[in-house]
Amino acid sequence: MRARFPDFRLGKVLATSFTATLTERRGNAVERIPTPQRLVDWLAVNGLAVESCTTAQLELAWELRESIHAALTAAAIQGALPASAVQVINDCSIQGRAAAILTPDSNRRWRLSSASSVEDALGVIAADAISIIAGERDGKLALCASPTCQAAFFDTSQSRTRRWCDMNTCGNRQKKARFNANQRKNPGSAK
Ligand SMILES: [Zn+2]
Repeated sequence: MRARFPDFRLGKVLATSFTATLTERRGNAVERIPTPQRLVDWLAVNGLAVESCTTAQLELAWELRESIHAALTAAAIQGALPASAVQVINDCSIQGRAAAILTPDSNRRWRLSSASSVEDALGVIAADAISIIAGERDGKLALCASPTCQAAFFDTSQSRTRRWCDMNTCGNRQKKARFNANQRKNPGSAK
């Protein structure tokens, strides 16, 4: 039955993968974690598995997500960070009690304080957002060029000239739109 929910957009950066659980914010928004179970699914895919999630925990996750979105957007345009968003991010970071564990094959794994601690998982996500906004990581914050998206993303390309949050969705759509516009101008040109 889970297939009726929108797919996740998976990226390499935890904080922006999380903000991408709501897409098309400037168009017809798509909520990709509409239920507590879908948040559980998303956390599992992102190495933060929990056994359960309450409605209140989902609401906290949404609040953190939109706070990260607001802060990343402000940081991308070198604007002042919204104080309320910073507060939510810091509160979530402080509440989380996840521990980084080094595995024998040299990977980092997160250990949460309990199987139902969504707060621990959110703390890890909040800390990830903090490290990006603080400029600790190699990359540049930018806003997606798609007018219906404008999501903040973390550009780690060598040239730092990425235009879209996601090449397979926003990037592709833009290319198709340009192609269709050309078709209308020159109907016989591409057979
Ligand atoms: Zn986009």
